[in-house]
Amino acid sequence: MINSYLSDRVQGIYPSKIREVMDKTKYLINQGIEVIDFSIGRPDFDTPKHIKEATKIALDKGLVHYTASAGTSDLREAIVYRLKEDFQLIVEPDEIIVTAGATEANYIATQTILTPGDEVLIPEPMYVYYSGWSFLGGATIVNFPLDIILKQPENLEKYITGKTKLIILTSPHNPTGQVISRQSLEKIADLSKKYNFLVISDDIYNKMIYDNVEYISIAKFEDMKERTLIIGSLSKTYAMDGWRVGYLVAPKAITKQALKMHQHILSCPNTFVQEGTKVALLSSQECVGKMVQEFDRRRKLMMSYLDNLELPYARPQGAFYIFPSIKKFGLSSKEFCDYLLEEARVAVIPGDAFGQLGGGCVRFAYTTSYENIEKGMEKIKTALEKL
Ligand code: PLP
Repeated sequence: MINSYLSDRVQGIYPSKIREVMDKTKYLINQGIEVIDFSIGRPDFDTPKHIKEATKIALDKGLVHYTASAGTSDLREAIVYRLKEDFQLIVEPDEIIVTAGATEANYIATQTILTPGDEVLIPEPMYVYYSGWSFLGGATIVNFPLDIILKQPENLEKYITGKTKLIILTSPHNPTGQVISRQSLEKIADLSKKYNFLVISDDIYNKMIYDNVEYISIAKFEDMKERTLIIGSLSKTYAMDGWRVGYLVAPKAITKQALKMHQHILSCPNTFVQEGTKVALLSSQECVGKMVQEFDRRRKLMMSYLDNLELPYARPQGAFYIFPSIKKFGLSSKEFCDYLLEEARVAVIPGDAFGQLGGGCVRFAYTTSYENIEKGMEKIKTALEKL
């Protein structure tokens, strides 16, 4: 009976399938069963001490009241500084809104731009909430294989119509760890200008890059800053996922409108968290470098196990995910993940959690210790030998 009260909007979105695996894992752990967890998409490191200290000081100083909706000007200046230092991106404080993570930044970005009748281009597999955000904006999602973006961007043109308003890009990519090359981005930028659609560039893993691969923001190409909405997050880079802090950088005309959306959801970001965030961005980035180095070591270890198991994957160049194909076992990705959890007590995410085209693959996150990766991969090896 209560269902008759529910909005069409809420009935058209679905819980993340990642959470389903996390809940099952938690259930087993609560039963006293040891599970090696390759499912979690967040660093296993603690937030660096200097960031926590700065936040504690802010609390003790009484920074406990609302700030400006867009975030403190100090923090927005710190974001300006970091984007310039890291990516030579020149932005202004009033092009920035500090949000509750990249999640809110993506939400306000999509809800500010999309309107019923619009089409959104999203390469698949894709981050779990992109389809929900597009649906909430009333837009139609046009999915196509991620490889088009990575390898044949000229083929993107056939998915563009007069209704295309937006493309959502993720580089490094979740769940594959792939980085979009300069050449591909240049082509996408040309199409964005030719067909007049905007770009959401959800590049929250852009400080986690391996093999000296080049990362470049699409906003850097000629005339692209004015048609790009950059999504930023402290969650992964500084192991601050529970802090819930990120940002949206967009042309002023869009930021001004998105601020209304942000006010309706959040009013303003958490005050003392903003103080810690400022310190994270302005102080030495050595802590990030160390974390990325350790992720790289784990990435290599996991790749060598997957190579031995002859599970094919595209070599991850960023973030902390690998997305091998499990098609040779003849199981669906959910069946495969359920089997690993039952038999090996290892948690991984079914590829179709990231959209239909992710089916036949599974996501491994190397967000647990080197020793746990060795242990978990050995257990997987034994379990797969029985198949
Ligand atoms: N965008 C992508 C591509 C992600 O992988 C994630 C988290 O996994 C998010 C956004 C959300 O991040 P946040 O914790 O900043 O909300």
